[in-house]
Amino acid sequence: MQFYCESLTGYKRLKTREVKIGDLLLGNFHPIRVQTMTTTDTMDTIATVEQSIRCIEAGSELVRITAPSKKEAENLLAIKNELRRRGYTTPLVADIHFTPNAAEIAARIVEKVRVNPGNYVDKKKFEQIDYTDAEYADEIERIRERFTPLVKICKEYGTAMRIGTNHGSLSDRIMSRYGDTPMGMVESAMEFMRIARNENYHNIVLSMKASNPLVMVQAYRLLVHTMMNEFEECYPLHLGVTEAGDGEDGRIKSAIGIGSLLEDGLGDTIRVSLTEDPEFEIPVCKDLVRRYEDRSQRSEAGSQTSDFIPHTSDIGLPYNPFEYKRRETHEISNIGGKHVPVVIADFMESKAITTDNLQSVGYTYDEVTDKWTIGDGAADYLYVHKKLIDFALPGTLKVICDYSVWLQAADKAKYYPLYTPAEYLQQNERSPLLNFIAVDTNKPAAMELLPAIRNDRSIVLCIYSSHANAMVSVRSYITELMNQGIACPVIVAVESHDTTIDEQLIHFSTEAGALLLEGMGDGIWLINSETMIKNSKVSGRTYLPMKDNRQFVNNTSFSILQATRTRISKTEYISCPSCGRTLFDLQETTAKIRSVTNHLKGVKIAIMGCIVNGPGEMADADFGYVGSGPGKITLYKGKEIIKRNVDSAIAVEELINLLKEHDAWVEKEVYESH
Ligand code: SF4
Repeated sequence: MQFYCESLTGYKRLKTREVKIGDLLLGNFHPIRVQTMTTTDTMDTIATVEQSIRCIEAGSELVRITAPSKKEAENLLAIKNELRRRGYTTPLVADIHFTPNAAEIAARIVEKVRVNPGNYVDKKKFEQIDYTDAEYADEIERIRERFTPLVKICKEYGTAMRIGTNHGSLSDRIMSRYGDTPMGMVESAMEFMRIARNENYHNIVLSMKASNPLVMVQAYRLLVHTMMNEFEECYPLHLGVTEAGDGEDGRIKSAIGIGSLLEDGLGDTIRVSLTEDPEFEIPVCKDLVRRYEDRSQRSEAGSQTSDFIPHTSDIGLPYNPFEYKRRETHEISNIGGKHVPVVIADFMESKAITTDNLQSVGYTYDEVTDKWTIGDGAADYLYVHKKLIDFALPGTLKVICDYSVWLQAADKAKYYPLYTPAEYLQQNERSPLLNFIAVDTNKPAAMELLPAIRNDRSIVLCIYSSHANAMVSVRSYITELMNQGIACPVIVAVESHDTTIDEQLIHFSTEAGALLLEGMGDGIWLINSETMIKNSKVSGRTYLPMKDNRQFVNNTSFSILQATRTRISKTEYISCPSCGRTLFDLQETTAKIRSVTNHLKGVKIAIMGCIVNGPGEMADADFGYVGSGPGKITLYKGKEIIKRNVDSAIAVEELINLLKEHDAWVEKEVYESH
């Protein structure tokens, strides 16, 4: 059985148990709650109270505060009292790693505790031990003894609990048996769940966070599947992508992970972890949740919104929703097969196209030398609508235009036609190599097209949907292509009518990212209106300066491909959101490291605030920059410490040296083309 959500053909939320956190109800179709976490020192009561208030005023419905040891756990009382004195009753959550004693104190004070099953009982030693079944059972017994007191306190005090698994901090026991797989993450939580249920304690929320949205999405799906099989019910899900980073990339990664799950009706509360002040996370959360308010209102709680044309037949999914496998497609020119997904830059609204315009999509023209410089994030195709271009294009760039215009184009090796389904079915003239068809999967023509394209090896479909549940509609159509054995490549086309940068990023990331995570999509084509970007408000502070709307859309396309790991075109940053444990200014340091390393295509660099959790949680980073004491940084190659306690004043230089020593450094350069 492949069950992981209520519906694959319409929006229907998954029913989960109701959980009470103070006066806040979560799960069981209650609104999706938004939350964040403070970054202040928990011992600084006033700073923590004031930051909590900024978060609450921004709309946070829960505020999490780190409690690394007993003294911070005890100080939660002072924080809570001061917040109540100032009239704020928002439930507080204690964030616990490694310290059951702190958890047991906090559970008597705040409304919810978060434990990490990867480190609640065990300190990670990175040991590979082969456990016999009996030894494994002994380990579980040891966890039971250590975890049960907390469960009993939570029951007695009416305190809720989150069992929050992190991909980067699984215990040695889980790693030895399952590896760092989604199944390992699920089992890590299930071990604790079984103990809690045995005590008849159910006030539980679960999370399966990872910095890689693909791992995260698969882990949540598998968790639902496993809970339904074993418990015949689901507990509420707290969704989040860890160490997502800052600015656009952080928002894109979060939206792909969280948005993909929300699309399928999963998720009862969300946190967007950005390396920015926590109150900046809340507008992003709200933008994410707002997308589903309409859909929920249109249906009774738990029932389904109007169906689109249901393409998916009842024979089940032709792919495994718990594993990534790219849909197999024909190779046509540089699209499909084993090619990375292509990027189509939309010039539909442009009146005329100049060499200068192409700079926004990765091509810089030098008039003196008559040469093009091509960046890593250079689009592969231009869509020019009804225009033709009057200058020589760089060799790697091709043009898609409407069929009627293509008929007039002299250079048929450079221009390719885009048909409507009707134009294609009318047996019009075609390119011998490559023909695009724009398909709205919500229209009957989408299905009528299938018999005609079945044997046409020149077809690439550019698919979108006019249905409110566009992603699900498109996924269902691609599923039908798979069921019918039609292997033409597919370009995922997404149009945004949103009015802010944040909303557009979320819309593009969710709609396109969710499909790419399913292995669907041989290309991406994002469309918005030129005027929108000018009027956009920016909630965060770290957006990179952008030349114009085309550059914004082009960057977003490449960032979505990067976050889904389908096409790597730049450096990958894994930076923790920071918390009371953070030992340096994470935002400033992240910006500094980014400015000197952002040309290192494909290198993954983690920037983590503390040595307690940082190394465990930096997941699959190639290099790590980790705070190890006031003014001290420890540098890692993978999980291995290379330079310990480096003075922070020279730590970025030392990181560059480390990159050089391991052949991960190149000087900034671009290559040229006529
Ligand atoms: S890694 Fe960052 S967010 Fe996690 S505990 Fe350390 S400082 Fe806090």
